[in-house]
Amino acid sequence: MKTHVRRQKSDHQLAPLALAVLVVLPSLASGAEQLRFKPGFNLFSPQQDVQLGREASADVEKQLPLVKDAQLERYVSDLGRRLTQDAPNNAGYEWTFKVVNSQDINAFALPGGFIYVNRGLLESAEDEAQLAGVMAHEIGHVVMRHGTHQASQAMLAQMPLAILGGVLGRSSSPTAQLAQLGIGFGVNSIFLKNSRSAEAQADEIGTYILYRDGYDPHAMAQFFGIIDKKYPQQGLQFLSDHPNPGNRVKKVDDLIPQLGPAKEGKTDSPEFQVAKKKLLAMPHAPKVKPAAASTPSASGTAPAPTPPPAPSSRLVKYEGTGFVIAHPDNWEVQKGQEGVTLAPPGGVLTGSQGEWAQAYGASVSQQVPQKKGWGLIDATQQLLDSMRQSNPNLRVVKQTSLKIKGRPALSTLLENDSPLQGQKETDRLVTVRAKDAMLAVIFVAPQSAFEAYGPTFDAMVKSLELR
Ligand SMILES: [Zn+2]
Repeated sequence: MKTHVRRQKSDHQLAPLALAVLVVLPSLASGAEQLRFKPGFNLFSPQQDVQLGREASADVEKQLPLVKDAQLERYVSDLGRRLTQDAPNNAGYEWTFKVVNSQDINAFALPGGFIYVNRGLLESAEDEAQLAGVMAHEIGHVVMRHGTHQASQAMLAQMPLAILGGVLGRSSSPTAQLAQLGIGFGVNSIFLKNSRSAEAQADEIGTYILYRDGYDPHAMAQFFGIIDKKYPQQGLQFLSDHPNPGNRVKKVDDLIPQLGPAKEGKTDSPEFQVAKKKLLAMPHAPKVKPAAASTPSASGTAPAPTPPPAPSSRLVKYEGTGFVIAHPDNWEVQKGQEGVTLAPPGGVLTGSQGEWAQAYGASVSQQVPQKKGWGLIDATQQLLDSMRQSNPNLRVVKQTSLKIKGRPALSTLLENDSPLQGQKETDRLVTVRAKDAMLAVIFVAPQSAFEAYGPTFDAMVKSLELR
């Protein structure tokens, strides 16, 4: 169960996220007044882009090998920095450009200006303008803040803005906030899943930067075409991170006359050819494990560790706000913002991308339904819908009614994917009306262990007291 009770995290205190920060664009410099480069809806501030990007880049660099060669690093970094000087909407980002030791043709940008170019891309570019085109396209993703725009939309999909605002306002760092919502950011991060409209915008900016920096503005779209035709396999990841918005070349061709008077753009430099030759002479890059790089479905799952110790039959009471519940005395209590997680040691897993999920145990939370005069069945349904946002394969097996200390309650048996790799889990959701809120207890265990946990879960339900 991707968790539902949000865990408190307070390692670094940061200003809460400002909601609905819509950046008003200064008008662009001469030649491109008609072009409106406008970032989309975003819950983060540009400073938070930098912070998120810095943390994500530390993660990425643990997973991907970099090319360590002072001359090459300097060349790519100098080229990148020069290109950023012509980028619109460039507000205090922390620009770094690094070369990944991978033969796959790829490049990606993390929020805040952390750009990675694969060695394979440098080796397959024919000239500097093509390389500059890809880098300028990545700079476009940064200045239009596509990574945090995507993340913002994913957050919004999980809960209405009113609730989201409350959650974010009380929370600590933007990283923790994303983790709380189960949004991770490693090599497979949501920051890299660009939509076609984001691609079209990055294309426009890439072309604009090429033109402003004196390159042949056709070079970027031209190179994308080369990747598509000449290296369909090696460029697979690139094309999945940067989907073709459709008629790429034509759109760019239509844009170029709007940029200003036509001029002879430069295409190459001796430095590029030296860098390319140097890379080609280096030993072939080791194959990067595809585990993290190309299987989004693997994120958040972990290989089965040794199962936790059996639940002790000695129960102790946990007293929450408005409720009391008993749990085995060998379980750990983790207090969150909206409830509590009760789990055996090792029952809560942290995924490779910082998200966490419960494989064994229980969580208790209070839900305040949005509708006045709500009913238990509707409110339970609403909760199930919201759980499904982070547990897409959640399926109701059966629902029965019961009484808890005389109050009507519902017990919903569920089937779900376990965070333990390749396993299914059984969940039991017990909901009961408590004053103005609904108390929800979710019991979780892998399918194979659910029966063994049954008596413990039953005893916990019996122990529930509502205030
Ligand atoms: Zn792109």
